[in-house]
Amino acid sequence: MVIPLIDLKAQYQTIKTEIDRAIQGIIDNTSFIGGQPLADFEAAFAAYCGARHCVGAASGTAALHLGLCAADIQPGDEVLTVSYTFIATAEVAKLCGATVRFVEIDPVTYCMDPAALEAAIGPRTRVVIPVHLYGHPAPMDEILRIAAARGLAVIEDAAQSHGARCRGRRVGGIAPIATFSFYPGKNLGAYGDAGALTLADAATAQRIASLGNHGRSLHYKYEMEGFNYRLDTLQAAILQVKLRHLDAWNERRRQIAARYDELLREVDEIVIPRTAPGYEHVYHLYVIQTPDRDGVVQYLRDHGVMAQLHYPIPLHLQPAYAYMGLRPGAFPVTEALAERCVSLPIYPEMTLEQVGYVAETVKGALVKA
Ligand SMILES: *Cc1c(COP(=O)(O)O)cnc(C)c1O
Repeated sequence: MVIPLIDLKAQYQTIKTEIDRAIQGIIDNTSFIGGQPLADFEAAFAAYCGARHCVGAASGTAALHLGLCAADIQPGDEVLTVSYTFIATAEVAKLCGATVRFVEIDPVTYCMDPAALEAAIGPRTRVVIPVHLYGHPAPMDEILRIAAARGLAVIEDAAQSHGARCRGRRVGGIAPIATFSFYPGKNLGAYGDAGALTLADAATAQRIASLGNHGRSLHYKYEMEGFNYRLDTLQAAILQVKLRHLDAWNERRRQIAARYDELLREVDEIVIPRTAPGYEHVYHLYVIQTPDRDGVVQYLRDHGVMAQLHYPIPLHLQPAYAYMGLRPGAFPVTEALAERCVSLPIYPEMTLEQVGYVAETVKGALVKA
């Protein structure tokens, strides 16, 4: 038995007719940039998130860059985010001439620790980017309260959490600015690179849509210099089809996670994912902690379970951020998680039999170690 981390082919088979029809419709019209299908998807995704506006973007990274522009960031400003995330969250600050400072995470949610955020705020801090990691929302009420008291903008990085809820509200509809990735493996994934922002303010949404389209207002009029960060229409049409299935897919992910929990809860050596009270997890990843990370992953792969690591080296210990001069020990919770995390296969089309096989194999790895 070989069990991939995710199985996009299996998913395509379940929606092939709808997807093929949507793709063919765009090709028949040859309207590849802009147009009604893009506007329709933006409206549908805003409504889904409970946000007022949605602006499509070329990727999650492009959306993050535009998000900083929406927050009016200026050269010399400082962005606070977590070290335990994909590099895109942090790397966009430089594109705006801003700097990054990392903040410790909470050991239960693996998301930004509000107390650590409060302690890290400095005179140049302007923006906070909490990440809804693995499908678990960050503690937004606490973060928004701290940010409001200190006059900071907040951007949700919701790339891993489409549909997750924080005290009843969906991510993307909580902070005034949020960004999403539709990278193929995400809970809502396109068939190529794609992303979006959700925004509370109409004027900001209009400015950001223009900025992502060369600063254009009318066809031959440019209010400012911008970027080519448009979401292409073929991807929007695919996403429109897949959005209709997102809730069912997330529900299925929760069922799979619940079965993993059942099978692995009693295993002393590992820590299973936890969901803080009042939050709804969407299990982009099912990440366990184990003392022998590399041994467990090797054993799993040798037995056909394509486990992965998210993320084995936190950003503050990456060569790209060596200039910060941070040493091991700077963020103990982050570093302990990085050393112990193993992502097990999870995707909506996974069978409970496959879940059982993965759990048995995890137990086998621990016996052997
Ligand atoms: C995937 C991801 C991104 C980047 O999205 P792309 O579409 O690959 O540019 C940003 N932040 C997080 C947390 C992600 O997981």
